[in-house]
Amino acid sequence: MPGHSSHAPQAPVRVRVAPSPTGDPHVGTAYIALFNYVFAKSRGGAFVLRIEDTDRSRSRADSERQIIDALRWLGLTWDEGPDVGGAAGPYRQSERSETYREHAAMLVDRGSAYPCFCTAERLAELRERQKAEKATLGYDGACRALDPERARERARAGESHTIRLAAPQSGVITVDDELRGRVEISAEQIDDQVLLKSDGFPTYHLANVVDDHLMEISHVIRAEEWISSTPKHVLLYEAFGWPQPTWFHMPLLRNKDKSKISKRKNPVSINYYRDAGILPRALLNFLGVLGWSYGDDIEKFTLAEMVERFTWDRVSLGGPVFDTDKLRWMNEQYLHELSHEELVDALLDWRLGREHLVRVAELVRERIKQLNEFIPATAFFFSGDLDYEPVADKLHIPETPNKDVKKAILELVERYEQAEEWRASELESISRGFCEDKGLKTKHVFMLLRLGTTGRKASPPLFETMAVLGKELTRRRLRQAADFIAAKK
Ligand code: GLU
Repeated sequence: MPGHSSHAPQAPVRVRVAPSPTGDPHVGTAYIALFNYVFAKSRGGAFVLRIEDTDRSRSRADSERQIIDALRWLGLTWDEGPDVGGAAGPYRQSERSETYREHAAMLVDRGSAYPCFCTAERLAELRERQKAEKATLGYDGACRALDPERARERARAGESHTIRLAAPQSGVITVDDELRGRVEISAEQIDDQVLLKSDGFPTYHLANVVDDHLMEISHVIRAEEWISSTPKHVLLYEAFGWPQPTWFHMPLLRNKDKSKISKRKNPVSINYYRDAGILPRALLNFLGVLGWSYGDDIEKFTLAEMVERFTWDRVSLGGPVFDTDKLRWMNEQYLHELSHEELVDALLDWRLGREHLVRVAELVRERIKQLNEFIPATAFFFSGDLDYEPVADKLHIPETPNKDVKKAILELVERYEQAEEWRASELESISRGFCEDKGLKTKHVFMLLRLGTTGRKASPPLFETMAVLGKELTRRRLRQAADFIAAKK
């Protein structure tokens, strides 16, 4: 009947966000989580959190906890995940190793994958040779030619090996992206990807595809940076004989100069925005307008309103600029809407809660004679960026050009970022080690750190102060102080 579409039952919508717990919770993760969440909720579907911690050397348990806390703080709650469970679990890839091994073996049995015995040295040599010959880089398929029976025997006998996908050597791989249309890649561009590493752990490609299939993910909504992996994933779906999910690659967040957002230009940790007093709903709204338009020139909308009105045709592909001035403007709108009571609640949730105040009190109690000195003595714990003008003449290291001072501060900040825990003892030992390595006097560097983080010549014990101030504000202020110093006449 014309105009009467058949109503085939649609598979339920199931989407996921799949962060790797390798660092601070990133605003890009929040952005992708938001679009997954909103799409799921707009379609009565499920939103899953999966932790992709297969890179054992880079994964940190603390980072997983922080991602979970940050997404919860934003209010992007998931229906299934490592902390809440669910029928498709476990949701942490490190707990699914056996599944990946079984699936890799399945492909080997079908002849779609093969054991590869090439050593790291051979692969490095191959790479050098390809580079010298200006040839396309990639595995040359040496082990693909081995007799399968013999290869399996060697593998069974315990010879170190990886498992590689036997990728097609000709033809075209098609990726249908809902936002970008059809992308075609010639098969020659894709070499035989490693699926299982020699330690028995999966690569991102294998784990990601196996999990998306077993967790019945219907739509993969992820950042543009993964689009080059998608043809490899398409090949894997084909090798397993599984239907593909529907693909959406969201545009990357960018700095004003259009480069990919990076911590060198703006803080990228969700926790920074939390500590700087941005309200979660303002951050969500801001991330929402970056990728999607509500229509009717309306920029301010709640999460529920976004869910209600969400359609993909209003997602724009132009590189969204992470403009912190706009975020502040948005925050102001939300802040002004709060009742007095709500504002006080927001302050208590922020840094005026008991837990944080106790830590601050511990640091300044010996330094005050009356309660009315508490606020002035601790103001820098509760303020935003500092004004370095009043201490400008102290912000230097004798006989060191300002640009080198800046470099040194930034390098030290990098080292802090590697700290296992943001604790005074660790910060101190990193700082001392740094001074020693660089031949700098601790007296000079510690004064810089004090001025940079507190704006004052005298403060409570330096590293305790940095610990309580927190990773985010400490890093931000030191970066700002470094810029200030370099810009001095
Ligand atoms: N683990 C990847 C990440 O860190 C997941 C990419 C994807 O969504 O497939 O973003």
